[in-house]
Amino acid sequence: MNLIFLGAPGAGKGTAANRLSELLDIPHISTGDIFRANISEGTELGKLADQYISQGCLVPDDVTIGMVKARLAEEDCAKGFILDGFPRTIPQAEALDNILAEDGRKIDRAVDIVVSEDKLVERLAYRRVCAACKLSYNLKHSNIGDCCPVCGGSLIMREDDKPKVIAARMAAYHRDTEPLIEYYRNARKLVKVNSEEVVADTFANILAALEIKGV
Ligand SMILES: [Zn+2]
Repeated sequence: MNLIFLGAPGAGKGTAANRLSELLDIPHISTGDIFRANISEGTELGKLADQYISQGCLVPDDVTIGMVKARLAEEDCAKGFILDGFPRTIPQAEALDNILAEDGRKIDRAVDIVVSEDKLVERLAYRRVCAACKLSYNLKHSNIGDCCPVCGGSLIMREDDKPKVIAARMAAYHRDTEPLIEYYRNARKLVKVNSEEVVADTFANILAALEIKGV
């Protein structure tokens, strides 16, 4: 099954993609991992990407698409794959369709993991990180105080988890992703999955939406 995972930051996309990857024995491919692999292996595309990234510039589409194309040609993608973080734009989505069509493949489903801003703010409000050892904790499910139980460091809220920052991240996400959602809706490949409750439910919802039998 060839899948794309879409979803706002904090929607639980990465966790769900990892679990589905294990269940279906297909790779979970995030653009971050592809970039890191190409850069550390020193591929031609990796060197190019590195030049842009080190100057704080956006990596151009043809470089990103080239790396995704090479990754999807690898043997472990024969049975399927889960793309996470790509495509981000309509031109990228069209390029992806063309790459797959070259070997008679196609995207089966684009999964949009939906979570409301209120829920996200509520979920992240309980997250704390130890300033010293960087371990992360959820205050909702434990009664630890202001100190890290492991090292005694002080527990702080990540800047990214503060309500104001979350609102800005959500707005940027919707602005950038809405056209993509429309693209897959028009192609009749879009499935929406609710992530309002706990992450375990999100995963079950994904299995149901894709008509996959759980374990
Ligand atoms: Zn600590």
